[in-house]
Amino acid sequence: MAPDAAKAKGQKKVNKTGETPRMNIIMFGPPGAGKGTQALRLQQKHKIKQLSTGDMLRAEVASESALGRTIKGIMNAGELVSDEIIIELIGNCIAEPECERGFILDGFPRTVPQAQALGDMLGHMGRKIDHVLVLEVDEEALLARIQTRAEQTKGGRSDDNAEVLKNRIEVYRNQTAPVLPYYEQQGLLRYIDGMRAIDDVTEEIEAILSKAQAA
Ligand code: ADP
Repeated sequence: MAPDAAKAKGQKKVNKTGETPRMNIIMFGPPGAGKGTQALRLQQKHKIKQLSTGDMLRAEVASESALGRTIKGIMNAGELVSDEIIIELIGNCIAEPECERGFILDGFPRTVPQAQALGDMLGHMGRKIDHVLVLEVDEEALLARIQTRAEQTKGGRSDDNAEVLKNRIEVYRNQTAPVLPYYEQQGLLRYIDGMRAIDDVTEEIEAILSKAQAA
């Protein structure tokens, strides 16, 4: 390989500061699949920003703002907040300097219109999604996980109970899973076995990312 070509190849893997290149990632999967846990780990390791729509909305509810009051009942029922509200929320975040190095979307997009709006926003910014990491888990495991989370956080989340969870899974099936073909067409889906231990899932994700960077 000519020296210049070798250099260019090297620059693709690691930039001047020795950091990994910037990446925009979507964490995808049903409620309780472990998106938030893995997104936090990615944020720490790669210094890219985790954007959790669930956390943002919970903060809004806690602040008792007008918007918070509107969305509280919707969230407690396990239904989806309107696309309009969510798209504006995420649009503002992505434009922040802290997302400059990249971001991990956790809980968004959750509907096909949200995915399309995201594509448009990124297109205008000259950016794109690099990977959609799909955490695959089975439904019984989800129920058990959420029950454990509910016990551990002692009512910290008013939508973490068996009845609401069943609806959240239903909403996932009907409104969120249809987002997958949208990204499949773009060749962005990377499937991960979410039933393994947390560290093993992280390892699998890291292997996927470094393989993609080396390509
Ligand atoms: P989980 O990943 O456990 O399903 P989240 O914390 O991501 O939960 O979301 C909790 C709730 O917040 C959802 O059930 C929904 O009401 C609302 N929500 C979060 N993200 C979105 C979104 N992208 N669009 C609409 N509603 C959302």
